Amino acid sequence: MKLRYRYRIYPTPVQANRLAQMFGCSRVVWNDALAFCQKQYAQGGKYPGSSALMQHCITKAKQTEERSWLSSVSVVPLQQSVRDLDVAFRNFFSSVSGKRKGPKVRMPRFKKRHSTQTARFTQRGFSVGSKLYLAKIGSIQVKWSRALPSEPSSVTVIKDALGRYFVSFVVEKEPELLPWNDTSIGIDLGITTFATLSTGQKVEAPKPLKRYLRKLACLQKSLSRCEKGSNRRQRAKLKVARLHNRIKDIRTDFLHKLSTQLIIENQEINLEDLNVSGMLKNRRLSKAISDLGWRQFRTMLEAKATMYGRDVNIISRWEPTSQICSCCGHREGRKRLGIREWQCLNCGVFHDRDINAALNIKAAGGHSEAINGCRRECKPEVNSAVLSEASTRLVDKQLELFAS
Ligand SMILES: [Zn+2]
Repeated sequence: MKLRYRYRIYPTPVQANRLAQMFGCSRVVWNDALAFCQKQYAQGGKYPGSSALMQHCITKAKQTEERSWLSSVSVVPLQQSVRDLDVAFRNFFSSVSGKRKGPKVRMPRFKKRHSTQTARFTQRGFSVGSKLYLAKIGSIQVKWSRALPSEPSSVTVIKDALGRYFVSFVVEKEPELLPWNDTSIGIDLGITTFATLSTGQKVEAPKPLKRYLRKLACLQKSLSRCEKGSNRRQRAKLKVARLHNRIKDIRTDFLHKLSTQLIIENQEINLEDLNVSGMLKNRRLSKAISDLGWRQFRTMLEAKATMYGRDVNIISRWEPTSQICSCCGHREGRKRLGIREWQCLNCGVFHDRDINAALNIKAAGGHSEAINGCRRECKPEVNSAVLSEASTRLVDKQLELFAS
């Protein structure tokens, strides 16, 4: 499988200057190519394709006076810039025509000068030794925090908002299958408790944004008070970026540790398919939800499962996991969110709401334990259309309750 390996690099001041020039040139090529496409579109023309774009925005542009400086950097990242734009356009087209599944892809946008800068080199533009050699930049010092598993096929140079430089290699790596075990787990994700496991364990999330929200607001306020273009503003901007970075690090660190632990311990992981983008539309909750990183968590689990030979099952979001008794399969109907514990009217077992849901998610994934072996027969047939409507409303209701 293809993986990304990221390292910090330390360019000398001269190299940093050359890098700045290269970032600028690839950004200009991207923006020129995008503007050219938009113009073609406005005139009723067709999408030109990558070779025509390269011809127009690199080869011909170099001959003009206003773009002659494009020759001072390596042509590799410039061509890559056009290729990346081409991929972005093709994804957009196939999303519009419905060929591409998943969330809608937006039209490519213009790149700004002040956001994170990137440039990509293919194999003929770089080589890896004790240092990293980039065409027309030189040999840059790299902090090799871990060994590269294979020869990289491309490298992206990144300068982030804090002014730090990184390189991200794309490498091919063979999966490292973990020894098979037959444990299976169900996970119920929530806002108050990040994850409730079917084993009964509850995992709390750190919620870094909530913790630093005040400080962030304070820093942003002082940033907005600084005069544009001043040194003071530059410093204030750096402070905001640093705090954002810390928030992201706390969240990612937590998610990595939890997902790795779950993958090592379990052969099969069952997770509910949450409509995250739908929930984010709820303005009162979007902050709390993005602070948790549900989507990121699922992506990590899926990637690690492929890497280590585990299975991740995604359970339909219309499965009434919080309405059914995990012991006897009796369906009690909706429960208000305030109800954290309840007793089954059929078999009399006491349930913790989240643990019961996690057990149902686990059972829905295919592995039923002896205790709910008969569950499938007991389970009443449900009209899926009616159910889906009810559940949508239920989710909205739940979210509102959480916000209040
Ligand atoms: Zn029951």
